[in-house]
Amino acid sequence: MKVFKFGGASVKDAAGVKNLSSIVHHQHGQLVVVVSAMGKTTNLLETLCNAYFHKDPKVASIMKELKSFHLAIVDSLFPLNDEVYKHLEELFTNLENILSSESSLCYDYEYDRIICFGELISTTIISDYLKMEGIDNQFIDIRKYLKTDQNYRNANIDLELSGQLCREAFDFNTAPVFVTQGFIAGTRTNQTTTLGREGSDYTAALLANLLNAEDVTIWKDVPGVMNADPKEYDKAQVISRMSYKEAIELSHFGAKVIHPKTIKPIQNKQIPLYVRSFLHPESTGTVIQEIDEHLKLPPIYINKANQCLLTLTPRDFSFIAEEKLSHIFAILAQYKLKLNLMQNSAISFSFCIDCNSAVFNTFLEQLQEEFEVRYNQNVKLITIRHYNDEIIREIIGDSPTLVEQRSRTTAQFVLRNHI
Ligand code: ADP
Ligand code: ASP
Ligand code: MG
Repeated sequence: MKVFKFGGASVKDAAGVKNLSSIVHHQHGQLVVVVSAMGKTTNLLETLCNAYFHKDPKVASIMKELKSFHLAIVDSLFPLNDEVYKHLEELFTNLENILSSESSLCYDYEYDRIICFGELISTTIISDYLKMEGIDNQFIDIRKYLKTDQNYRNANIDLELSGQLCREAFDFNTAPVFVTQGFIAGTRTNQTTTLGREGSDYTAALLANLLNAEDVTIWKDVPGVMNADPKEYDKAQVISRMSYKEAIELSHFGAKVIHPKTIKPIQNKQIPLYVRSFLHPESTGTVIQEIDEHLKLPPIYINKANQCLLTLTPRDFSFIAEEKLSHIFAILAQYKLKLNLMQNSAISFSFCIDCNSAVFNTFLEQLQEEFEVRYNQNVKLITIRHYNDEIIREIIGDSPTLVEQRSRTTAQFVLRNHI
């Protein structure tokens, strides 16, 4: 059994759905197809959720946009009397019922029960389209089988319970192909949860782990994992083989091509992960697997934008020692802020975090009670794996760096954004 994952870019229009169907058609044998919301639907649903939560009258027009985007795709794929219209109408009604009821006070809970419609709609369309094309498949509402805690918007999976439920649900004696949603899940009491933005890669990896898949393929708009984002670096090249360790480091440092949580579930079961182009399905792309020998990789360059660099100095001049550091870490954890780089001296501690404007001011005020705080917002963190002097000269040049750090394999630079 194999797992295929298709992201939003691959199903952004009717041609994308047809292309998905052709890729699935050429695959023989048992298959789980995991799909994200179409195009930028999740962003639109975020706007819808905000409008609903803040009682903004824009709710109606956003809902209209959501419907017309999907109906335009459906109109060009199906005959007018197809069952798909009934299936979609049901989903739109369910969403409208939520929008016309009073919201709870918990934003994250409301977010998850609204945002899930992107994936529910896309998988409904795709499952019905594959059926029309003669590809026998079963639609699965993954919220019933992938179980999480109640940490809305970034829920944690209950692997044992999900394993039992998924192995029962994905019974290949009943169908050769299953179509299901990435990114969304459910609690034991059937409340909808999500796994973090861009989390569909992670769902594919989880299902592969729980169902003991042979391999996982994530179909992207790039030819594989490259040594830089091709949108930023025109000399980027595909890396044909990569170890799990390299892949987890790259995604952690911010290479957006794979969600950072994807590697652990597949590494734990030694399942290979293929990253391939849905535009050129004949190409082999990248394989990520256990690799024992030393692979010589080219320098890999990652640009993590929208960072904030802070430097803390204790007001009473006490050393930045273990207790101080653990106190700072506790504050970071309290605000769910992700630390991307750190450096300390006798009485100063500098670190880079993802900018999160929603909590930044309160976070800052809390730090200022004990520390003198200097900070730069909107800086970028450049990471170069397997660096050499030539690539550092090419990427960084003479740009003045705010912080610089080098280990044996990785060089990192914090730069002002306008450079
Ligand atoms: P999905 O359609 O699955 O959501 P994403 O858009 O999240 O796919 O990821 C694909 C994008 O990742 C590419 O369009 C590319 O711009 C970006 N990217 C960033 N770093 C890399 C890299 N090292 N190799 C390939 N693509 C990269
Ligand atoms: N649709 C979700 C998002 O845009 C999940 C995903 O695409 O992976 O974040
Ligand atoms: Mg994505």
